[in-house]
Amino acid sequence: MHIFSTINETKNYLKDLKKRGKKIGFVPTMGALHPGHITLLQKAKKENEIAVSSIFVNPLQFNDKKDLDKYPKTLEKDIESLKRANCDVLFTPSVEEMYPTLADLPVSNKIIDLGTLDKIMEGKQRPGHFQGVCVVVKKLFEIVEPDKAYFGEKDFQQLAIIKHMTKSFGIPVEIIPCQTVRETDGLAMSSRNTLLSTEERKNASLIFKTLSAAKERSKTLSVTELQKWVEQEINKSHFLKLEYFDVVNAETLEPIAKWEEAKNIRACIAVKAGAVRLIDNIQM
Ligand code: AMP
Repeated sequence: MHIFSTINETKNYLKDLKKRGKKIGFVPTMGALHPGHITLLQKAKKENEIAVSSIFVNPLQFNDKKDLDKYPKTLEKDIESLKRANCDVLFTPSVEEMYPTLADLPVSNKIIDLGTLDKIMEGKQRPGHFQGVCVVVKKLFEIVEPDKAYFGEKDFQQLAIIKHMTKSFGIPVEIIPCQTVRETDGLAMSSRNTLLSTEERKNASLIFKTLSAAKERSKTLSVTELQKWVEQEINKSHFLKLEYFDVVNAETLEPIAKWEEAKNIRACIAVKAGAVRLIDNIQM
């Protein structure tokens, strides 16, 4: 595996491969890799000749500085996992390499009109977050120029926003959604899970259990009734606090009030477990 920390090295190495007609699959990450990330990488490797990953904890997408400071970092271990998964290229730039001018840094930078996509759910809770995600993913796409890029459905809103962003800017990359990889008790794997206390971690399994039960109950309850029920279930645990449970049209992410309003429906949830925010979703 080639490891590059500069844009030039990465571009030069990939340019040569592209000239030889090799297809490139790309998996951007913030590191602290777990089997969810590795599944994306394996899919990229299977569907392309070259698999490229990046590890970059993007300060622009953290609206809470404490969250940025405590974000887990396990670079040596990540490198070993990527090597085992046959990753060909790892790009690990510094903040200075990605954002050489300070003018790039304010989180309020708006590079794209996301309409309602970044006003709801995570967008409401984390102002500026998705603009920061768009800035970094656009830059990474310009550096790697992948044929396909792989994103997890765990971050369902992010996936929709990346699709919208690539379409708006006409970036010639195919966005491939990947199913959420879960722990044995159902909790969606996340780098943030390592920040949970033992009790918080135990209780966090309630999130997916509640989502699965909500899917069943959607056959008999109205959207509003279901939202109330989910709130009660999650908040029964002293270790969890519901931030939102939104039922949305899976294509537009517009919240729906009645089941008949959309064919393809996702229920998206955000829960605070102590100081850690956990998100998940389920197809209804
Ligand atoms: P992150 O490092 O958290 O920014 O995640 C990098 C990529 O991995 C994103 O596309 C995430 O959606 C995806 N990802 C994170 N957790 C999971 C998971 N449990 N299953 C599938 N994909 C995931």
